[in-house]
Amino acid sequence: MVEIKSMLNGELIYREDLTRELIIIRVKPDAGVADFIPGQYLAIGLPGSAVRVDWANPEVEAPAPDKIIKRAYSVASPPSEKGYYEFYISLLADGIFTSRLAALKVGDRLFIAPKVTGTFTLTDVPKEKSLILVSTGTGLAPYISMMKDPVTKDRDLTIVHGVRKLSDLAYQDEIKRFSNVKYQPFVSREDNLPSWCNKGRVSAYFMDLSPEQGHVFMCGNPDMIEEGEKVLCSRGFTVHSRKTPGNLHVEKYW
Ligand SMILES: Cc1cc2nc3c(=O)[nH]c(=O)nc-3n(C[C@H](O)[C@H](O)[C@H](O)COP(=O)(O)OP(=O)(O)OC[C@H]3O[C@@H](n4cnc5c(N)ncnc54)[C@H](O)[C@@H]3O)c2cc1C
Repeated sequence: MVEIKSMLNGELIYREDLTRELIIIRVKPDAGVADFIPGQYLAIGLPGSAVRVDWANPEVEAPAPDKIIKRAYSVASPPSEKGYYEFYISLLADGIFTSRLAALKVGDRLFIAPKVTGTFTLTDVPKEKSLILVSTGTGLAPYISMMKDPVTKDRDLTIVHGVRKLSDLAYQDEIKRFSNVKYQPFVSREDNLPSWCNKGRVSAYFMDLSPEQGHVFMCGNPDMIEEGEKVLCSRGFTVHSRKTPGNLHVEKYW
């Protein structure tokens, strides 16, 4: 157990429970925050022996107690925040890692990868292009980092966030404070919504998009992304990769 303890190289310094299944956390790595580009992700982890939250479903097969379970998470804080990384995370009752993360308290230790990585960034997007940033659930995280970074300061941003319930709309107050950001929340499973909130799924938003409007980013649920790819490619968008630049950028969470 001594060895695995030495792999826990970060401390949970903040935890905000938005709902039972949604948290915002901040992790302070012992080695300090690495340089990164908004939109990138890194792995965090806990030992298989870590305690699970009491509302987790029973595990069919317990993971090895002496191994670190690692998962990828988009960084929600901007690179200028040097004290910690912020993450916006969905806790799953069946999740091998998140059922353990859910039981963590401020002051507890966890593994945090030394390097931040990923290509879901604004690096290849021409500066004059508007940005339409579409997400479901915690797929909002990379856009919060982008929004808070000087790279988007003088640009037109639209943040489209699809969730089931109004209470799942994290970061809404912060988003509304940015005058260059248009906020388009979609709530699918609740009625009597406030006037600033759309009823339905983010896929409704795809129907109004054309390539002249800018670059589209999609992050989160793979079903939403596949549906979006189908609709938007039929409207003239092309999926971006380093080798073949396009105007549709995707990050699937599973
Ligand atoms: C590049 C990248 C960045 C990511 N960033 C984030 C992030 O910022 N926040 C975040 O919450 N997750 C993020 N994820 C997903 C994360 O890595 C884990 O897959 C997730 O937390 C589940 O881990 P688990 O061990 O609890 O579940 P597992 O036991 O590994 O079960 C995984 C299964 O749970 C389901 N699942 C996975 N993620 C979700 C989700 N968010 N909502 C609902 N169902 C899900 C899928 O069916 C998946 O097959 C990211 C994934 C990738 C690849």
